[in-house]
Formats: sequence, structure tokens, C-alpha cells
Amino acid sequence: MQILPLWINGQRTSSVSSRSGEVTNPATGAVIRRVPLANAEDVNRAVAAAETAFPNWRDTPPLRRSRILNKFRELLETHKAELAKLASEEHGKTLEDAAGSVQRGIEVVEFAVGAPHLLKGEHAENVGRGVDCHSLLQPVGVCAGITPFNFPAMVPMWMFPIAIACGNTFILKPSEKVPSCSLRMAELFKEAGLPDGVFNVVPGDKEAVDALLSHPDVRAVSFVGSTPIAKYIYETAAHHGKRVQALGGAKNHAVVLPDADMDFTADAIMGAAYGSAGERCMAISVVVAVGDSADTIVAKLKSRAEKLVVGAGNQTGVDMGPVISAQHRDKIVGYINSGVTQGATLVTDGRGINVAGHEGGYFVGATLFDHVSTAMTIYQEEIFGPVLCVLRAATLSEAITLINANQYANGTAIFTSSGGAARRFQNEIEVGMVGINVPIPVPMAFFSFGGWKASLFGDLHMHGMEGIYFYTRTKAITTRWPAVSDKKVSSLVMPTLG
Ligand code: NAD
Repeated sequence: MQILPLWINGQRTSSVSSRSGEVTNPATGAVIRRVPLANAEDVNRAVAAAETAFPNWRDTPPLRRSRILNKFRELLETHKAELAKLASEEHGKTLEDAAGSVQRGIEVVEFAVGAPHLLKGEHAENVGRGVDCHSLLQPVGVCAGITPFNFPAMVPMWMFPIAIACGNTFILKPSEKVPSCSLRMAELFKEAGLPDGVFNVVPGDKEAVDALLSHPDVRAVSFVGSTPIAKYIYETAAHHGKRVQALGGAKNHAVVLPDADMDFTADAIMGAAYGSAGERCMAISVVVAVGDSADTIVAKLKSRAEKLVVGAGNQTGVDMGPVISAQHRDKIVGYINSGVTQGATLVTDGRGINVAGHEGGYFVGATLFDHVSTAMTIYQEEIFGPVLCVLRAATLSEAITLINANQYANGTAIFTSSGGAARRFQNEIEVGMVGINVPIPVPMAFFSFGGWKASLFGDLHMHGMEGIYFYTRTKAITTRWPAVSDKKVSSLVMPTLG
């Protein structure tokens, strides 16, 4: 069985760890390759390579760095289908869906190519008499990224292209369940001309993560994953004096007002709830049906959910692939059982689904619950599977209060034909990303991605200008060139410059 390498200092290298894990094809249950679970010594090698490469990369003019990124972008375009195939094979999502997510990652590289413009500081003349001030955005050094299983190419690309465009060097610790896209992207980046050591990939689990979090030469940590681990990463990295952004889990609500176009809304919610088998941090997992919209929207969702085709992600005509593992499938089924026990109405039941020829796969069919209450476990916890819960609210005010009381605040959407209702919603809702008649409002690369509350620990979101700020340190320089005739400046009084 093939065991994957690490990627350190521009080449494949074997892990010195004695531990390895299995990479499974979730559509068949077959182990397709093994992944090394890097240890502290592996991490030390990667950090040493990144630290050595840093001074030269920092001093490489941003425009030259950008040209390499642009070449990388071209190679990603050429290899898009190959990356999508790897993502689909290891994650389970359909090839078309995987290609879409690779495309969204490429768009971050496209944004990062513009870094020379974005890295310009500010300049002000005469902040005091004869005194000027300017600021620099300088790279922070060795950065680390730790990523989840559900977007094998896109989420890593939220991080490393921007960090590297800003002049940093980077160590990526991808999810051990889906390591192959990251390793392939490292090869493509080298082919694009990236100097050795600037980008390193260290597959592993908690052991590798802990080594990165405590390593004194790692200056910044970006994380995307579940909320308990995000909180742990945030606290541990901060304890070790690093800057950190840690994106966590989600429970995303879509509010449906009675004046919405119900067919348009049902189609939009279907894609958002069941695409990628619900394993998206921006998946809609809750519908809040306001007033008399409830019966209509539930009926339309039911008829659509019953028609969804479940199968292997590489088969044509399939809408929804498997979930990531047998353990995760069983957890989702456990949630569905609890919904039934706690009194929700099971409208469409995805349990016990059989996919002919893929009996070993981890499939759960589209599941729809109506009459869910906020006290139920299926509402309170992130299920991360193809389970959609409908709650009913009398008014928009009630819907907003309900959403704002939830611990998660990643994304939300409202479906309405009322500009006034939409405006009120965007103003009052306490959630990081909001869609108005847009079910999955993932911001484009030139805006920033991030939630609020338990969906993000840290101050800055990913990509967009917040990404540039996260991966740079601001330095302000105040300058005076005194002429002989200038009066004496020495004084013990707080300088006011003017
Ligand atoms: P996870 O938290 O289990 O793992 C994420 C990363 O952390 C992986 O690289 C994993 O190896 C590592 N890790 C796991 N346990 C660890 C531990 N105890 N100590 C240190 N590191 C550890 O998440 P997952 O199951 O891979 O991904 C699904 C989760 O990610 C969901 O909760 C989903 O909502 C979330 N997610 C959030 C966003 C977002 O933008 N907010 C995007 C994608 C996924």
C-alpha cells in the first residue's frame, strides 16, 4: 500500500514517525493509501526549512513573488480536474462539486497575485512641521495552516497563497483524511518556480498540530475545523505568543418569509442543505419558516429531497455522495434517531440507504425534519450531514431572535421579496456572512470569509484584506530631516510634532 510522503524543502521526504493512518474512499469503504502521521521531529524539519527560506523570500520583490503565484494559478487551472478527482476520491463529494470548490480556491490565488498593490502602506506628509510618516506591511515569518477534511483544496488555498504572496513561508498540516490535494499543490507550486522551503506540507494529526503550536519559530497559525478544536488552537497558539485565527463549526439558518418566491427558495435551499452531503461549513442546516410559509416550503423541500440521487461522487447523474467515514455516518444516524425520539416530525428519512455496487460506502440519504424546536439536540448541535431541520416562527422578529441566540454564527440567509425585511435582517442579525436570496453566501476572494461567535476565534477573517492584514505586521515610520536652522527638538515633554 502506497504511503504518502511529507513535502519539506521542495521535495518529497519520508516521515520519521512510526505512526500512519488510512485514507479511505468513502464511496466504497476501501483503504486507498496510507498517510504518515508526522511527529515533532518531522515538524521541526519543516519549520527549519521554512525558517531558512524566509529571509530570501521576504526580500524577493512582491512583483516577482506575484509572477510565481500567477504561474501557480495557471498550473492549478490546467490541473483543476486532477485536483477535483483527488478531492472527490478522498472526500466523497461529486466531481462537479469538487471542481467548483477547487475553482473557489483558485480565485484566492488570483486575488493573491494582486498583493504588490495591497502591500502598499500609507504615507502622510507633514504629520508635524517638517515631519512625515509612512507605514510598511511586513511579513510575519513562518506561518502554519491546519485544515479540515471537507474542502481538501479550497480551505488550504484560503491560507497559503496569501501568506506566501505577503512574503511569509508556510507549513500546511492538512486533514489526515484528505492529504493528497495539498501534496499535489505543493508539487505544482514548485513547478511554478517557488523556491524550496517556502511551502511545506506535513500531514498528521494532533501530534503534528501540537508541535506546530508550541514551536518558537512559528509566528502565526490559521485554523479551520470544528469549534472545540478551534477554541483549543486559539488558546494554545495565543499562549505560545502567536497570532491566530481559528474558524470553527456552524449551524446556518435560512429564514423564509411568506412573500418569497417559493420554488426559487426551495431550489436554493436544496443545494445549500444537501450539496456535499451537508458537509460544508456554510451548509444550510436549519430553515426558519415564518408565518404561513411553513407548509408550502416543507412540501416543496419534501418532493425535491425524495428525488435526490445518492451515489458515488464519480458516477454521472449523482446529486449527493457519501459522508466522510463510517463513524461519521453512524453519528449522523444517531442524530436522526434522537430527532425522532425527541418529537420532531421526520418528513424524509435518509437512514438505511443502499447504493447498489457500493455496499461498503458511507451513505446517508437526504433527511428532512419539520416541527423542530430549539430544545432538541438536532437543533443545538452541528450535525455536518444531509439533515435539514425546519423550525416555525410567527414573525421576522422571532426568527431574528432565534438565530441570534444560537452559539454559532457563520452564515445565514433570508428569502424574501421585501427590501425592507432584507435590510432589517442584514442590520440586526449577529452572523458573519449573510445572504439575501443567496443560500450559501461565501464571499469572493477579494472579500473576507469568517463567522462570528463560536464560529471564529480571533480578530481577522480569511482572505480579502483581512487575510493580508493577518499575514503582515504593520510598522509605522516617522521621519524628520532637520535643517541646521531648525530649533532644538530635545524635550522631555510628550512630543506633539505640530
Ligand atoms: P476537526 O476539528 O476534527 O479537524 C480539523 C483539523 O484539526 C484537522 O487537520 C485535524 O487533524 C486537526 N485536529 C483534530 N483533532 C485535533 C486535536 N485534538 N488537536 C489538534 N488538532 C486536531 O474538523 P473536521 O472534522 O476535519 O472538519 C469538519 C469541521 O470543520 C466542521 O465542524 C465544520 O463546520 C468545520 N469547518 C468550518 C469552516 C469555517 O470556515 N468555519 C470551514 C470548513 C469546515
